[in-house]
Amino acid sequence: MSAERLKYTEIADALAAEEAVYQRLASISGMHYAFVDTYGCQQNEADSEFIRACALRMGYTLTDDPMQAELIVVNTCAVRDHAERRVLGNVGAMSRAKREHPDLIIVVAGCMASRPEVQERLKKSFPYVRVVMSTNNLHRLAEDVWQAMSTGKRVYDTDNSCDRVVEELPRDRDRSLRAWVPIMYGCNNFCTYCIVPYVRGRERSRLPEDVVREAEERIAAGAKEIVLLGQNVNSYGKDLDICYDFSDLLAAIASLPGDFRLRFVTSHPKDASRRLIDTMAAYPKISPALHLPFQSGSDRVLKEMNRGYTAEEYLAIIDYAREKIPEIVLTADVIVGFPGETAEDFEKTYELVERVGFESLFTFIFSPREGTRAAKMEDPIPAEEKSRWFDRLIELQGHISCELHEAQVGKEFEVLIEGPYHGRQGGTAARTPGNRLVLLPGVHTPGETLRVRITGATMSALIGETI
Ligand code: SF4
Repeated sequence: MSAERLKYTEIADALAAEEAVYQRLASISGMHYAFVDTYGCQQNEADSEFIRACALRMGYTLTDDPMQAELIVVNTCAVRDHAERRVLGNVGAMSRAKREHPDLIIVVAGCMASRPEVQERLKKSFPYVRVVMSTNNLHRLAEDVWQAMSTGKRVYDTDNSCDRVVEELPRDRDRSLRAWVPIMYGCNNFCTYCIVPYVRGRERSRLPEDVVREAEERIAAGAKEIVLLGQNVNSYGKDLDICYDFSDLLAAIASLPGDFRLRFVTSHPKDASRRLIDTMAAYPKISPALHLPFQSGSDRVLKEMNRGYTAEEYLAIIDYAREKIPEIVLTADVIVGFPGETAEDFEKTYELVERVGFESLFTFIFSPREGTRAAKMEDPIPAEEKSRWFDRLIELQGHISCELHEAQVGKEFEVLIEGPYHGRQGGTAARTPGNRLVLLPGVHTPGETLRVRITGATMSALIGETI
């Protein structure tokens, strides 16, 4: 069954509320500014495109200065505990802006605001937060703002059960070279450490024609890289009542005319199929880059995590990818110190990292998220032990990254210019087809494709010169 769309009346309510806010602002002289503060993943970035478009339609002008704003929307992330604390700290600091603008409307939206514990905290300790809204209710932003504005009351739009796919209300598409295109929302996997299925709900795929149309529009608007987004892109289409999967979608977008690259995040090893790899190999526009989080090299820990694959199965798909796409650039996520993980389990993770040779590895020490199963598991391993494992893995990965980068010296690539490099050495940042960072001397035009030779390497980047 395909995901439900917004009803006509819901769209009409949203548009009527936008108009009401617009009229109210128009009746008050001067400019009215909105500030959108985004935390977390690219999915949140994509949601913020919707928030910005809605703010513009309501009559606000966007600003980067919260002190200037009359509307602040904080689009939050709940994936890590420290991110949550940082958001609450920053929302706390906004009380100063509230003193400047007594009519300021602060909205806390996103994954954090979908958690009942956080809603309770916002209610009690942050009285100047006027609207709290769950992730799946974003299409009601204007209605909630209007309600707060017209009644002066606090609004709690926290029922997260509305899991529609919103195509009908426009987004504020910037004209950047990289376009993040969501293909699905939510997740069905319930990995035991993860909060996402609780805050973003079950998987809902956008219809293929909607995704392809959006990719076409972004390419026509100048995007040079399309990045398809989903918590588990490989299960795209399973909820649609058509016979169409992620490989079909990739092939359809990779067949579009135009000069662009195509990537996707995030893949789940249990759903990453040989067909996916074959599709990547068949279309030159698809980047030879695969981010495939393995999380642990121990089957026992993978089972505890509810990941649905073994280390052997993971390695089988990696080997197939290397066989079909020899130049593929592999990256992954790993968690160190999952509850009950033993030294033996950790060694299996270490061996897997040695065996695969990832380009880079996002390494996290386990941190419990309230509301997940892993948060209730016994965790006898001392924090110092986990830190030692973490340090060993970081050191190993550092060596591997250096070796892989050194091996690129002397090779030539077509690189896509991103823009100025903001690191110490300056110059220009560019990307190889496999998404490796290349630093070039001098200034080059963003969006341009140049042929470069690699002349040097560091742990995190390649150094190149134009040919
Ligand atoms: S696949 Fe697992 S880790 Fe990824 S979002 Fe879903 S539940 Fe979380």
